Amino acid sequence: MKPPKEVTSRVRVLPMIPLLVLLAGAGSAGGWRSAPAPVFDGNRAFADLKRLVAFGPRPSGSQALEQARAWMRGELERSGCRVEEDPFRAETPIGELPMDNLIVKIPGERPAVAMVAGHYDTKRFDGYRFVGANDGASSAAELLELGRILCRRQNPLTIWLVFFDGEEAVREWSPADSLYGSRHLVRKLSEDGELARIKAMILVDMIGDAQLDIRRDQNSTPWLANLVFGEARRQGYARQFRDEPTAIDDDHIPFVNAGVSAVDLIDLDYGPANRYWHSAEDTVAHCSPRSLAIVGRVVLASLDRLAADPRLP
Ligand SMILES: [Zn+2]
Repeated sequence: MKPPKEVTSRVRVLPMIPLLVLLAGAGSAGGWRSAPAPVFDGNRAFADLKRLVAFGPRPSGSQALEQARAWMRGELERSGCRVEEDPFRAETPIGELPMDNLIVKIPGERPAVAMVAGHYDTKRFDGYRFVGANDGASSAAELLELGRILCRRQNPLTIWLVFFDGEEAVREWSPADSLYGSRHLVRKLSEDGELARIKAMILVDMIGDAQLDIRRDQNSTPWLANLVFGEARRQGYARQFRDEPTAIDDDHIPFVNAGVSAVDLIDLDYGPANRYWHSAEDTVAHCSPRSLAIVGRVVLASLDRLAADPRLP
């Protein structure tokens, strides 16, 4: 894999440009040439995770999810992101439910789109209070912190941050009862003729687990999984990004089935024998800022690698 060379080639011209021109351009253009590159702040993302949990259980169609969505929208706008809503009605086993994907489109120097996505709903449970610190809040928090960085700087690629509603089954997981938001978006983008713009999708899900171990999902696109896992290894995170196979059904599947290259970064090994997953124990106490930061660093560096990859012209 080629190292990210696009930055060096741009930096090369800097000495020829008068300093004043650089300073004048810094404010309006995002200023990545002169300002130090912002870094992913795991503590800030963890604060977002806690804030989302404080809204309580957040199943699709609930008032708590609506409040969480409004709060996330405000956070994104404070970061300089332009937020689009993608409301739709989903046919579920308990009747029609209103759902709404949030989409941030960050214009880049090139039209090729790299999408980073995750879900923000939590699974509906009647018997206990399920707050989904890891399963639902961690992915949304990760995207909020990525927005603070990516919306404030000039990026070579166009980047879309997508917050999916309705990832979880309303009752029991099945092709018809799951992945409502991603299935809806693939349908909509292909109708609009925009799906082909997406050259790579990085999906994050359950990446807040304090004992982070992400395995290689066999349903993901091999070249993209290689790129991300290779970057993780390069950064010294081979223990957290393990070369062990698994096969996961998640929001990337509708995209993969529609021909979009996608990789799912998911840690479905949550607590002893996965005991915390979909349980009352999916709490803030079992998540960590460090796990969010590790995934954030790997995703940001993977976006740089994608910008240098010929598959994203
Ligand atoms: Zn779940």
